[in-house]
Amino acid sequence: MTAPSAPITQDVLTIPRRTPEGDGKRNLVGLTRDQLRDVLIETGTPEKQAKMRVGQIWQWIYQKGVRDFDAMTNLAKAYRAQLEEHFVIAVPEVVQRHVSEDGTRKYLVRIAGGHEVETVYIPEDGRGTLCISSQVGCTLTCSFCHTGTQKLVRNLTPAEIVGQIMIARDDLGEWPEIGRAPKDETRLLSNIVLMGMGEPLYNFEAVRDAMKIAMDGEGISLSRRRITLSTSGVVPEIARTAEEIGCMLAVSFHATTDEVRDRLVPINKRWNIAELLEALKAYPKLSNSERITFEYVMLKDVNDTDEDARRLVKLIRGIPAKINLIPFNEWPGSPYQRSDWKRIKAFADIIYKAGYASPIRTPRGEDIMAACGQLKSATERARKSRAQIEAETRAG
Ligand code: SAH
Ligand code: SF4
Repeated sequence: MTAPSAPITQDVLTIPRRTPEGDGKRNLVGLTRDQLRDVLIETGTPEKQAKMRVGQIWQWIYQKGVRDFDAMTNLAKAYRAQLEEHFVIAVPEVVQRHVSEDGTRKYLVRIAGGHEVETVYIPEDGRGTLCISSQVGCTLTCSFCHTGTQKLVRNLTPAEIVGQIMIARDDLGEWPEIGRAPKDETRLLSNIVLMGMGEPLYNFEAVRDAMKIAMDGEGISLSRRRITLSTSGVVPEIARTAEEIGCMLAVSFHATTDEVRDRLVPINKRWNIAELLEALKAYPKLSNSERITFEYVMLKDVNDTDEDARRLVKLIRGIPAKINLIPFNEWPGSPYQRSDWKRIKAFADIIYKAGYASPIRTPRGEDIMAACGQLKSATERARKSRAQIEAETRAG
């Protein structure tokens, strides 16, 4: 048995970056209500007006998609000029856009420092889901995940996280009329999943601040039930997610014994299945959400037996849950194969018969490498070798 080789703790900090477009001016995107209020007061907005100005500016930025202060016509001309002098409204740059045969769109997004992340838009009947990234790369090294082969470069800032929603809306042409409350059901972009690159709970504050803007009635204005954060199992941050964000939670479960989960999701060596389940049990009550999504990637001959399915059902007993089965998506050099369709169906059946919803996630955007776990920015040079990935897969 080898010692854990994967970094299983957070080892980076978010470093606030100046926007290249900003000429040293401060970017207003991603600031919390309080932060925005403070910078407005600092730059001359009378304290008594500041709260109202925050609401007005937020509506222009997040509901109308305005990037130019001069377009904020309910503000006095002189005040607009004052804002212009100190601030910018900047979102990351889309450097490539791929559209899959099935309508999935993948954006390669360049952030400050020249790094790149991917954002994926998935249209479905009656809804459209945006899969957003929270880090460039990931410190964790789940052996079936392409992102895990890319070393962590840095955490995204709140502006870069909420900015991914704004650039998707730009591309979809979806900036509703101000004053007309957008209805979730008719939106092109109606749901958000934090399932792109990175472990969101290792970038907690930035993810929280960005999601608060996404959920705010004067911000992006999505219901918290339409936002799902997926974690590999950062146990100490789970209760905090319920209390400070309150969104839906998904967990990358993927195995039913510690022995197998140690190999697939190495953070399990730090917080094992029993500890994870303990934290999950408390989540629905704390966050007032109905159920937790258990994600389970189907890997041929690794975690896909009937016995696994039965063990899974036993483990999650007592937790309101839905089990999302994800057929493994291959990537160049990946050390696993997708379970056969018949096997996946049999596995799903056992779970369904035990009383849980067990949808099988249809791979989307595979032709453009946009499916779950396929994201990785090709330009990032710091990558592990295939031999290293294989060694880590065997370890444990
Ligand atoms: N870091 C977070 C969120 C990003 S991964 C997490 O791990 O939960 C989003 C989901 O895709 C996770 O459930 C992850 O386990 C799964 N995934 C990763 N690689 C995959 C692959 N190659 N095929 C299918 N699913 C994969
Ligand atoms: Fe990171 Fe999630 Fe991929 Fe694991 S599955 S390496 S936590 S992005």
